[in-house]
Amino acid sequence: MKYEYKVKNVYKEADEKTMKDIFDYAEGYKKFLFTSKTERGAAHSAEALAVANGYKPFTFGQKVKPGDKLYFINRDKNIFLMRIGKNDLEKCGMKIMVAHVDSPRLDLKPNPLFEEDGIAFLKTHYYGGIKKYQWTTIPLALQGVVMLPGGKKVEVSVGEEDDDPIFYITDLLPHLSQEQNLKPLGSAITGENLNALIATVPDGEEDEKNAVKAAVLNLLHDKYGITEVDFETSELCFVPAGKPRDVGFDRSLIYAYGHDDKVCAYPEMTALFECDSDETIMAVFADKEETGSYGVTGMQSRVISDVIDSICASLGANPILVRYKSRCVSADVTAAYDPIYKDVYEKRNSSFVGCGAALSKYTGARGKSGTSDASAETVAYFRDVFDAAGVIWQTGELGRIDAGGGGTVAVYIANLGIDTCDVGVPVLSMHAPYEVISKADVYSMHLAMKAFCEAHN
Ligand code: MN
Ligand code: MN
Repeated sequence: MKYEYKVKNVYKEADEKTMKDIFDYAEGYKKFLFTSKTERGAAHSAEALAVANGYKPFTFGQKVKPGDKLYFINRDKNIFLMRIGKNDLEKCGMKIMVAHVDSPRLDLKPNPLFEEDGIAFLKTHYYGGIKKYQWTTIPLALQGVVMLPGGKKVEVSVGEEDDDPIFYITDLLPHLSQEQNLKPLGSAITGENLNALIATVPDGEEDEKNAVKAAVLNLLHDKYGITEVDFETSELCFVPAGKPRDVGFDRSLIYAYGHDDKVCAYPEMTALFECDSDETIMAVFADKEETGSYGVTGMQSRVISDVIDSICASLGANPILVRYKSRCVSADVTAAYDPIYKDVYEKRNSSFVGCGAALSKYTGARGKSGTSDASAETVAYFRDVFDAAGVIWQTGELGRIDAGGGGTVAVYIANLGIDTCDVGVPVLSMHAPYEVISKADVYSMHLAMKAFCEAHN
């Protein structure tokens, strides 16, 4: 059976020390996750960890030298962590690890506040791919920033402290759902149904029709100094409220909002902090993946090229040669095989919960549409690196052919002329308000990324 591809269970293979390492590692991840629900939150949590590990701010045009540990935050939403190595950049290239730190959620519309029959609501516009019915009747927190006239920025976070209020989107009671029950899952709850309940106390001085809206505007003005038109200059969103929690009697899994894709960003970061390497390594946590990686903070932005070019210029290296020699891990989650919904998976090519980081040669939909498709040579490099370090890994397609599909940011890095391979953590109920991953897999991802950082290019 020596020549057979066989999926290994990380927990089964683990000795006592490894078990302890897995469970200890999960605690750090859970902490990071709780403060990283939005891309802004994640960029700042990553910054705090980087600073604690001796990283210093980087600015374009700055001189860098081997041994420097630097970070660059692009517009509060996209962070680059860099370690300048001793090795010749033109000969060795860079080691690049990317992940995204935005997650599906409910953004506020620009003019979101309305009152209907005595209840004040905020209208939302969903961000990323969601199943709308899942966002009703769950506790929601409001997070983000509001820009006031003159450039003052107000940070808002309500719903995460134990004594904070939360927000709530209603659904019909089963008693009156006869008609709703007959509708397809995808249209029973519409985007325009996703209005969050925020207040019911009327202002005694206002006319009856808008008294609750007036009262809540007073509250907002007292607390944050904002007026109704300031929503236009805000980025506020509802995210599922609450802390990550362990799942199961054996506590082997983690339930949380936003595993996709913080469950890959975090291990990239810990690998970078821990690794012993002379290579120049960069971790990039991007925004806007869930809407196509567009925009100035998305992976399609030229900012990543600007950062690479800037490092190269400072070290006197030709960026064309450096990119050609570099390698990149595009780390994003993949669908974990779910025995309750077998039909959408093809078992021989699925990734399993608890069986390690999943290496995907390609992603895409239908005939691999949208994939960058890593070469056999590139996949072989990663297989050798992981095997040499004793990392338990598995392969994985997202699901059965033509069941759907999806892509990652791999293609945007590959388009820069950098060999890129997808590696990621399998997730149960991906894109649900609360997703589930295995502690074994996030730890395996950490080991895989550390092995990558420490290997020669
Ligand atoms: Mn993702
Ligand atoms: Mn996603």
